[in-house]
Amino acid sequence: MAMVDARSRPLRDLRISVTDRCNFRCTYCMPREHFGPEHEFLGREALLTYEEITTVVGALLPSGLEKVRITGGEPLLRRDLVKLIEMLRATGPDLDLALTTNGVLLKKHAQALRDAGLDRVTVSLDAVDHDVFALMADTNQFGPADVLAGIEAAQDAGLGVKVNTVVRKGVNEHQITKLADACMERSAPLRFIEFMDVGNTNAWNMEDVLTGEEIRKRIEHHVGPLFAKEDQKRSAVARAWVTDSGQEFGFINSVSEPFCGDCTRARLSANGSLYTCLFAATGHDIKAMLRMSATKADILHAIESIWTKRRDQYSAERSSFTTSQEKVEMSFIGG
Ligand code: SAM
Ligand code: SF4
Ligand code: SF4
Repeated sequence: MAMVDARSRPLRDLRISVTDRCNFRCTYCMPREHFGPEHEFLGREALLTYEEITTVVGALLPSGLEKVRITGGEPLLRRDLVKLIEMLRATGPDLDLALTTNGVLLKKHAQALRDAGLDRVTVSLDAVDHDVFALMADTNQFGPADVLAGIEAAQDAGLGVKVNTVVRKGVNEHQITKLADACMERSAPLRFIEFMDVGNTNAWNMEDVLTGEEIRKRIEHHVGPLFAKEDQKRSAVARAWVTDSGQEFGFINSVSEPFCGDCTRARLSANGSLYTCLFAATGHDIKAMLRMSATKADILHAIESIWTKRRDQYSAERSSFTTSQEKVEMSFIGG
């Protein structure tokens, strides 16, 4: 039986962070001044094991869970991730299983992930020009060519592939049309995410947000008219548009057009806390229960009692007051 929260929203989608570590230092997510050598990442003991993650997913399946997204941090840094995909696929043969990655390790793992039962990947790419990429991701170790190679390897392996771009006004906005070209060449849907005030470290400012509507106009100016895709799922975060040749562009307008009313997502942090909103300050400890030999029924019962009280709608209530509130970091909770 599907459980619903205090605003009648079911829990359909679970995002699971498998690590709080990353090989990038994107300025909007893990700014180096806050995630430098002195930052303490979670130790091995603190991370949920693959067995524990699979138990939580198995517990939620009877209550209407449809989709699991593996994320982080950079999920491909977690050892033997393919094993987790295999275990989740065995637990939920019909689950929609997706992964979000920065793509630089994807070429190496794409085929094994597909063979293990992964359905889809979302690859983040904020620029095709090397210097802008380096500025956004704050890395000299990798470049856009590594990500594009990952995208192609994932397509070759038979995975569904979408590309996500965060736009920061004045930093990568001139990459919008170049990214559109790169994705059209590869027939990969491209989605733009508005820069959000997640966490407390990215110095977010409304002035840095280029709205999805503005981005859409620039795409249309470059590729011609876009048409709103019909039959979109209410719970889909991106509003999808297509060109007359069928290329898809999506707009995740989380700041300018909040979609909290249809939010069916929960997040499980790498250390086993359940968060009912991306902007929550605190989570609910599930790991302690798992380590005290809780059964799947116990886990389901605990999550049910958390979910049924849920009233979160941060984006719909965003204001200068909420922006300055204490929030969990996205690399920890899972994007
Ligand atoms: N490392 C992986 C990646 O970058 O795809 C997965 C984790 S990352 C936290 C997930 C997504 O969150 C990425 O697409 C990233 O661009 C997005 N993201 C991170 N910080 C953001 C912010 N402040 N505003 C909007 N999107 C953000
Ligand atoms: Fe790493 Fe992804 Fe955050 Fe960039 S957005 S720092 S790649 S977790
Ligand atoms: Fe869901 Fe919270 Fe985002 Fe609203 S702000 S869409 S409730 S995660």
